[in-house]
Amino acid sequence: MIIIRNPKKWLFVRKNKIKNKTLGFVPTMGALHEGHLSLIRRSKRENDLTCASIFINPAQFNDKNDLKNYPASLESDIKKLKSEKTDFLFLPDEKTMYSDGYSFKVSENSISKSLCGKSRPGHFDGVLTVVMKLFNIARPDSAYFGEKDYQQYVLIKNMSEAFFMNIEIIPCPLIREKDGLALSSRNRLLSEKERLSAQLLNKALKTGKSKNDIKRILNKSGFNVEYVENKWGRKLAAAKLGKVRLIDNVKI
Ligand code: AMP
Repeated sequence: MIIIRNPKKWLFVRKNKIKNKTLGFVPTMGALHEGHLSLIRRSKRENDLTCASIFINPAQFNDKNDLKNYPASLESDIKKLKSEKTDFLFLPDEKTMYSDGYSFKVSENSISKSLCGKSRPGHFDGVLTVVMKLFNIARPDSAYFGEKDYQQYVLIKNMSEAFFMNIEIIPCPLIREKDGLALSSRNRLLSEKERLSAQLLNKALKTGKSKNDIKRILNKSGFNVEYVENKWGRKLAAAKLGKVRLIDNVKI
């Protein structure tokens, strides 16, 4: 696996060494788990070459503590990517990604204000901005996103169409633990007791009960529910267990 930190170096490689190859791109914030690796595997199946990126994007954290506590495990991430035979890892630093000090941004004024956007002001502008930057650097043919972050997937797909980016945005199935908990980098921040309760989020969504009933069930079980909503043919929810924010969605 070739690790590249400098966008100019990557652009040189993309334009000169691999210009005739199809490239799949998998952007991540690291702390990789089977959910991330499922995207890498899909990209590898569908493209000549696959590039992953790891960048913990400060612009998408509206809560400084969340950013401070976000798990990082670069060495083991690199091992995992190598064992999947990922071709390239783009590993930029903050100065490289935000040489403009975040004075330019992509702003969305509709979907991004609902669901997760309500409690996380500015979050999706941060996501869309970094994805736009990463797309402009990586120049992929396709990019792979998990349905775990369903609202994010919809926004990125819409952005790619709105700006004629000519990149196929591919949604990939949500990967879960055996007990139904959606895999997430943040799960490692759960205490033992919280981890046991965490499975109830998916179990409650699967009951087929009304939004309000599900909210009641979860609040009674120790969650602090942010929302349960039906949209895009899915039931989506966000809830906190202690300090850890969890999201999930199931097809209706
Ligand atoms: P993150 O590192 O959390 O920014 O996630 C990077 C990518 O992995 C995003 O497209 C996520 O939707 C995707 N992802 C995270 N968790 C899962 C999961 N459990 N199943 C499938 N994809 C996931």
